[in-house]
Amino acid sequence: MQGPLRILTVVGARPQIIKAAAISRAAEALGAARVQQTILHTGQHYDDDMSRDFFAELGLPEPAIDLALGYDKQGDRTTRMAEGIRQALKDLKPDVVLVYGDTDSTLAAALAADDEKTPLAHVEAGLRSYDESMPEEFNRIECDRRATWLFCPTTVAVENLRMEGFHVEATGTPSRERPAVRLTGDVMYDNSLHFACRAEGSGILRAHDLSPRGYFLATVHRVRNTDAPERLEALMYALMDLHELHGMPVVLPLHPRTRARLGAIGTAGVLRALDAHPGVRLLPPAGFLDMVALERNARLVLTDSGGVQKEAFFLGVPVVVLRAETEWTELVEHGWAILADADPERIATAVNTFLFTDLAVPPPLYGDGHAAERILAELLSAHTDQ
Ligand code: UDP
Repeated sequence: MQGPLRILTVVGARPQIIKAAAISRAAEALGAARVQQTILHTGQHYDDDMSRDFFAELGLPEPAIDLALGYDKQGDRTTRMAEGIRQALKDLKPDVVLVYGDTDSTLAAALAADDEKTPLAHVEAGLRSYDESMPEEFNRIECDRRATWLFCPTTVAVENLRMEGFHVEATGTPSRERPAVRLTGDVMYDNSLHFACRAEGSGILRAHDLSPRGYFLATVHRVRNTDAPERLEALMYALMDLHELHGMPVVLPLHPRTRARLGAIGTAGVLRALDAHPGVRLLPPAGFLDMVALERNARLVLTDSGGVQKEAFFLGVPVVVLRAETEWTELVEHGWAILADADPERIATAVNTFLFTDLAVPPPLYGDGHAAERILAELLSAHTDQ
């Protein structure tokens, strides 16, 4: 009799830990006789409020392997992560390596799986921003090229892969040479449905004296924004202006990198201005349920995050994207997101557009809330065929 499907899940960054919660719930529902999952944490994000706290909050099993490589320099870090993951593959010999998204941890796992000839399953495959100068875009493409399963959250992602020459209709048992492209829906939507009710218990609005629809929520953490002082400065002053223009507070849970860059020479004045500004609430990174509560009740969201863009949409809140492009192009096409880059004028115009426009009911762009079950069903079906 065929043993259980053994999955090595590699996470490293906050959004991956959050996405892993959806698969983990689905694996638990199937039971250990069918699916056994081991979690490896690369340590890419290592602060408790960016990593450890999420395992407890989302009910995710603690990682069995922690490479603790977050402190390494970025260039060496991917290589060191790949070495650690390769060793885990040698030791555990899993049936499949499961990765999420587009971070250095994702790439490291893809490289290690390739070397060890372990099939790779990529969740959030096929996403493209078509900006090859973004490190995330490089990671996405390299990971998709090495995958045996490409689990796409949207039809746009499937079409992107088709345009790159993938046989998106291929059936039968997949292999690295003949990978399976599958439209599964988005595991973040699964999570959003699962956690939305629980987020109602969050006390974060009360703690910061915020009223529903009475504030703007902003997040900024992309390297493109944090590591270009003129962009970071422009964004922060644009957020401060919003309060002056509309009289609503701007809530800004600060990613550790953003805080560090704001505190660096040249931009330290901006951090002081933010700290002293009566309309800006600087917060530490929020826990997931607090973040969902903040997103759901915001008048609108301004963000350069991929995940926050979508979560706002799931919750019916429009988004100003603080980037020149997005991999979630359907949000822009359906009018729920406006690209404003780090340009204060475009940001102000986009905010005005949303404040004075009623949006239609959000269309079902990201599946039905069962993406994780679908992903495991695909992997199990290939496992049973062996
Ligand atoms: N998030 C959070 N607390 C925060 C900011 C974001 O829990 O202070 C969550 C957010 O709800 C979403 C995920 O982190 O689920 C998005 O991750 P992030 O913005 O770090 O990365 P990206 O999605 O851009 O890869």
